[in-house]
Amino acid sequence: MKKIGVLTSGGDAPGMNAAIRAVVRKAIYHGLEVYGIKYGYQGLIEGNIVKMELGSVGDIIQRGGTMLYTARSEEFKTEEGQQKGIEQLRKFGIEGLVVIGGDGSFRGAKKLTEKGYPCVGVPGTIDNDIPGTDFTIGFDTALNTIIEAIDKIRDTATSHERTYVIEVMGRDAGDLALWAGLADGAETILVPERQEDFQDVIERLKRGHDRGKRHSIIVVAEGVGSGFEFGQRIKEATDLETRVTVLGHTQRGGSPTASDRVLASRLGAEAVDVLLTGKAGRMVGIQKNVLVNHDIIEVLNEEHSVDMDMYRLSQELSI
Ligand code: ADP
Repeated sequence: MKKIGVLTSGGDAPGMNAAIRAVVRKAIYHGLEVYGIKYGYQGLIEGNIVKMELGSVGDIIQRGGTMLYTARSEEFKTEEGQQKGIEQLRKFGIEGLVVIGGDGSFRGAKKLTEKGYPCVGVPGTIDNDIPGTDFTIGFDTALNTIIEAIDKIRDTATSHERTYVIEVMGRDAGDLALWAGLADGAETILVPERQEDFQDVIERLKRGHDRGKRHSIIVVAEGVGSGFEFGQRIKEATDLETRVTVLGHTQRGGSPTASDRVLASRLGAEAVDVLLTGKAGRMVGIQKNVLVNHDIIEVLNEEHSVDMDMYRLSQELSI
């Protein structure tokens, strides 16, 4: 393999730039030529492809977002779209591809692999919802953004004796809510992986109030439902002054944390090595601090789970 490509696809995540940098630099280190494909699979279809040099990825390790930009492409989900993408790869002589993104992007990567263009996936999403890796690129940064916001909300919650419902991202996964809730001492954490009894939530709120707590923080994962609706139910069930904050896309931006930069560097470089060993259709990940790779589609069939020990701990510590 002499020429490889790299693209970012689906939702962006802080640390994607550090991953691009690692792919480009590791490939050049191995004597390969590297091409950056802009705007994900849509850019591939359109031939929005540029040659990357060592300097192309200078001064990006600390930046959020993705310098290759990202897009969602309905066209690429079709056979014709994929054929157009392959024509572009052929035109540029690109023999293998590193795809940085989430599960949707991996499904696209599988299609290209099946058509003779080996791809390796790098898990980049703030949601931490990809099986086969303990952490995805961007999760730690989003988590830190959330706890910074909750710390601020806590100040005003205490001053006003309010109950705050904070809705965080995570799609169908509760990792961001669980980790942020534990890190921020939330009274209640609602995750999609576990059904909470609404009455228990109310009892816990009232107990806290009766023992003189000046505020309560409830973290709700978006996968559970609307924070506003949940806040409304609390208002109706108690006489506590309740406010709702939806953190939204602030969670997707910002300079990546040291953990995300290190993770992205390790995974990006590993993806190049996996491609060079001739493996195709793999996803790189990290498990127990060891770099691993799995079949990119089989791994998606595994169920993502949150750490229930951590969930119980959060409840024990917030009595
Ligand atoms: P993420 O990668 O963050 O999960 P999406 O689910 O939006 O984001 O997927 C990103 C892109 O990957 C899609 O816009 C599409 O171009 C491509 N993709 C998703 N699913 C498939 C599929 N089954 N076959 C081919 N391409 C796909």
